[in-house]
Amino acid sequence: MNDKYQPSWWEITHLQASYDLTIIGAGLTGLFTALFYKRLNPNHNVLVLERGYYPDGASTRNAGFACFGSAGELLDDLQHETMPEVYARLEARFRGLQRLRQEMGDENLVFEQPGGYELFTDRANFEKVSENLALFNRWLEKLSGSDNVYSPATFQGFDAIYCSLEGRIDSGQFMKALITKVMDAGILIKWNSKVIEAEQSQVVLESGVIISTHKTLLATNGFTTDLVPGSDIRPARGYVFVTKPINNLIWKGIFHYDCGYYYFRDMPGNRILIGGARNIDKHTEETTSRNINAKIKAHLIAFATDTLQLPDGWKIDVEWTGTMGFAKTKTPVCKNQGSGLYVAAGLSGMGVAIGTDLADRMARMLTEDSGS
Ligand SMILES: Cc1cc2nc3c(=O)[nH]c(=O)nc-3n(C[C@H](O)[C@H](O)[C@H](O)COP(=O)(O)OP(=O)(O)OC[C@H]3O[C@@H](n4cnc5c(N)ncnc54)[C@H](O)[C@@H]3O)c2cc1C
Repeated sequence: MNDKYQPSWWEITHLQASYDLTIIGAGLTGLFTALFYKRLNPNHNVLVLERGYYPDGASTRNAGFACFGSAGELLDDLQHETMPEVYARLEARFRGLQRLRQEMGDENLVFEQPGGYELFTDRANFEKVSENLALFNRWLEKLSGSDNVYSPATFQGFDAIYCSLEGRIDSGQFMKALITKVMDAGILIKWNSKVIEAEQSQVVLESGVIISTHKTLLATNGFTTDLVPGSDIRPARGYVFVTKPINNLIWKGIFHYDCGYYYFRDMPGNRILIGGARNIDKHTEETTSRNINAKIKAHLIAFATDTLQLPDGWKIDVEWTGTMGFAKTKTPVCKNQGSGLYVAAGLSGMGVAIGTDLADRMARMLTEDSGS
């Protein structure tokens, strides 16, 4: 028996099409790049291929923080990168968030900006971060026009740094609205279409279908190594849970801890979403597997019980993992791999903020290369 896919005469003559641009991955990067590219090239045929029944990557599995970096994270970044590099990324995140809100409208994002707290259990670290607030406030004032965006505070007995511009979204509502917007722009999205080979002029699906294209973009973030072995984008799994309703929940708002490795926020119905702690088993978490790491789960449960002191009897309602993509630095990769195969990936756990900026740069790069 031969299971090899053979296109019929009718498929060849009427259904097969050639695309100017094929984008692999219907996460926020792929969808925004499709949208921005189509605006710049209204006559081009754009196809988005997604392996899932709906977007099956980090964009629908994240925590929905609309943030640009806690003061602790910025200070940590300065240990590894230069000041201009850290500022450039902060700017890209800040502008990206503004663009996200302009493009989608706050109602489609269910955007809220209640401000957020970074909590500290180590006094020396709190003091070290506090000493640098003047610098970070100068940066944020330049970007936002608001002064004292970061300020020392206390919350529930913890040393804390308050960030007045911290926000959050509903990631499900956002992606649902973005898919509609992309389809309304005349872009074709094909679901359940897993790509197994991607080249400049053709893309091969698991089903055997071969699509011909002028250019191909990999917007596959943490899954990029599946298609480009040896790619410099590393996968990083993240774990998140949402509790059942908790009476008298004191943790209302947005919170970070330990340079942003831990994060939590209240959710509708007196619930709390808690995630992170990847840093306690970082090597194991460099995977595209969806399994839950028992060590990290136990650690986060202990954090919720002992540090946050959630009341006795609190329970997890929904739990999941998602795959992030990390580039060499936290700055995403936006490049032409060579002759028509492009990569926009490595959003390093901050895609809500930086995704539109990356998509905008990639759409322009693809357009400029079209003209050459
Ligand atoms: C647990 C967790 C919490 C997070 N929390 C936040 C947060 O609070 N705030 C924030 O800003 N960011 C957060 N992030 C990061 C953010 O979600 C990502 O940076 C962002 O979604 C990346 O978008 P993307 O489109 O580049 O990648 P993805 O959303 O991962 O999209 C890639 C798409 O490619 C598809 N794909 C992969 N391989 C193939 C293939 N072979 N064929 C076809 N399709 C394929 C995937 O199914 C997927 O839909 C979090 C991430 C995780 C995992």
